[in-house]
Amino acid sequence: MSHSHDGAVLELHDVGVRYGDREALRNVTFSVRAGELIGVIGPNGAGKSTLFKAICGLVNHSGEVDVNGVHCHDRVDRMDVAYIPQRSEADLLFPITVGELVMAGRRRFRSWHQRTTAADRAAAIEALAAVNLSGYEARSLSELSGGQLQRAYIARALTQEASVVLLDEALSGVDQPTTIELFDLFATLSKSGTTFLFATHDLALARHRFDRLIAVNGTIQGDGSPEQVLAPAVLDSTFGSGASSSQGGG
Ligand code: ADP
Repeated sequence: MSHSHDGAVLELHDVGVRYGDREALRNVTFSVRAGELIGVIGPNGAGKSTLFKAICGLVNHSGEVDVNGVHCHDRVDRMDVAYIPQRSEADLLFPITVGELVMAGRRRFRSWHQRTTAADRAAAIEALAAVNLSGYEARSLSELSGGQLQRAYIARALTQEASVVLLDEALSGVDQPTTIELFDLFATLSKSGTTFLFATHDLALARHRFDRLIAVNGTIQGDGSPEQVLAPAVLDSTFGSGASSSQGGG
């Protein structure tokens, strides 16, 4: 059975995820073209992270996820999708440098026992330059600001040549100038073909920063331009009557 459309980098067909008895997502179907910058909106607990985990194969799901036309079960590695989580305690504690993080993206291109090559190092240098972190190789992740950390993860997505980059509430705690800088970077990279899905519950960000929004709460509640998806009927079905109280929660 094929659902592929020409030019789709990512296709979901009737995707569902259960955690035990709890159905976190059902009947999720959408298609994404290369270079799209998409905001995925919904309140806390709506299933945004679960959606991203299904796309990169971190949770079991029903239905189909195709990346570059390759069915989920046939993908040899999952590094065609990069998942960038919220800043977590792990980033602060794990003693890894920016250079090591970015070099880890090259692992898919060699077997475990092979050493890094000059080409790997060149790719790492190029990726760090693309995110404006040249010279940061020796810094520990714990020394980075929130915006720098996101850029380091994006550099890793570049070295692993991910087609799709999933950013999960990635700007929590990042200030306004840094947010603007990061969206400028997403715009530049999306023009050269990288596809971004960005989960957020920040509706001001959603309104101004994306060409397309997908509203999620248990299933797809809306998919279209910001005007279409931020219309009251879609917001009500997505955020419900508890919207105002759940928005600030982080
Ligand atoms: P969001 O990212 O939009 O905040 P999540 O995808 O994290 O939403 O969660 C969707 C639903 O699934 C929530 O009800 C959450 O409690 C539940 N959930 C998420 N992860 C797990 C898990 N590992 N085990 C059980 N329930 C989970």
